[in-house]
Amino acid sequence: MRLEFSEEDEVFRSEVARWMRDNLTGEFAVLKHRGGPGDEEAYPELRKAWERRLAEGGWTCVGWPQTWGGRGLSVAHQVIFHEEYARAGGPGRMGHIGEGLIGPTLIAYGSEEQKQRFLPGILKGTEYWAQGYSEPGAGSDLANVRTRAELDPASGKWVINGQKVWTSLAHESQWIFVVARCERDSVGPKGLVFLLVPLDQPGVEIRPIRQISGGCEFNEVFFDNALTDAGNIVGAPGEGWKIAMALLGFERGMSTLGQQMHFAHELSLICQLARDNGAACNPALRERIARAWCGLRVMRYNALRMLSGTEDGGLSREALIYKYYWSNWHRDLGKLAMDVLGDAGNLLSEEHDDRQRLQQLFLFTRADTIYAGTNEIQLNIIAERGLDMPREPRGSMK
Ligand SMILES: Cc1cc2nc3c(=O)[nH]c(=O)nc-3n(C[C@H](O)[C@H](O)[C@H](O)COP(=O)(O)OP(=O)(O)OC[C@H]3O[C@@H](n4cnc5c(N)ncnc54)[C@H](O)[C@@H]3O)c2cc1C
Repeated sequence: MRLEFSEEDEVFRSEVARWMRDNLTGEFAVLKHRGGPGDEEAYPELRKAWERRLAEGGWTCVGWPQTWGGRGLSVAHQVIFHEEYARAGGPGRMGHIGEGLIGPTLIAYGSEEQKQRFLPGILKGTEYWAQGYSEPGAGSDLANVRTRAELDPASGKWVINGQKVWTSLAHESQWIFVVARCERDSVGPKGLVFLLVPLDQPGVEIRPIRQISGGCEFNEVFFDNALTDAGNIVGAPGEGWKIAMALLGFERGMSTLGQQMHFAHELSLICQLARDNGAACNPALRERIARAWCGLRVMRYNALRMLSGTEDGGLSREALIYKYYWSNWHRDLGKLAMDVLGDAGNLLSEEHDDRQRLQQLFLFTRADTIYAGTNEIQLNIIAERGLDMPREPRGSMK
């Protein structure tokens, strides 16, 4: 397990830190620590401009191969980049679905034309993507999707009908990747197709869903004879499940340690508040703060263990527990924040101050144990893949 970074790594670390210091300033200064989970609606246009600034500096898609415009960074350097980005208060990345999910999927499975067409927009921060997986009735059981796609021989286009739900940032995106059923009467993972669909067209309607935290970062997306070119299929008809699962494999990875820097910042806000309002003198709260700190250290060492020896960017077996651990830890941190706030936690603030930030933390972290695989699904994965328990019966996964 790698616990230390080399001298050369540290030189790279200073380079990233310097770039962030020089650039996250002026008009971008308001973006510091903004736009993360639960705060996705903050300054969308300015955050897109920030993506373009990152691109100019060569700091988007740092793990992509150089052939496709990335920096081809080693795992250690990617980790350092994400750590320093977060340490400097770098804003939530508008382009993360493109850069982290569909980009690597296209690099691995896309056609030459698709790579030429779509990768530059992600790299330059000019085109944004949404993920069209979940539907009413197909969340954990994703293989139950009902959205249909048919190739119309006359027009040579795919015609899509159905509904997606909880689609993050669809209202800020130009494209969506959609898992749909292309073989009539097929069930479960068979007969699916993976399509790239433009969002700005008459056949697509995007309706925002307001969340308990006040924002609407996600949406319902309706397809009513929506169209996409025949060439916008990744893999072959019937291979949608394979591509969809491969994409999820890119979901966790190098940004993990960066995420922990955000957590550390939130914990530091809670500590500061506890010192200021006297909550630090309450033994029960002190203990929970100390436990939270221990949890953060556990996550750091587990992440370093997870990333050790994964130069291909793939994740090791240790990764199985990671999502379950961080999401529950973070949800508990939200509760701790409210208890440290005390009565002040019940007051609404117009300002985006620390109090509002901690209230949002409490409200949004309820979602952490749902997206990217719910708690129960994570426990199933740990039991089946980590502990060799018998597979539980699958509903539609025949
Ligand atoms: C903030 C946020 C952003 C999201 N963004 C996107 C997005 O951009 N694109 C997208 O496609 N989706 C997105 N999602 C949807 C997310 O992927 C789903 O919410 C998630 O997969 C769970 O599906 P579901 O909501 O349908 O719940 P269900 O699958 O219906 O689960 C309901 C409950 O049943 C439990 N359960 C289900 N199956 C089992 C089982 N086999 N064993 C034990 N318990 C089980 C679950 O754990 C849960 O407690 C987002 C969700 C959130 C909260």
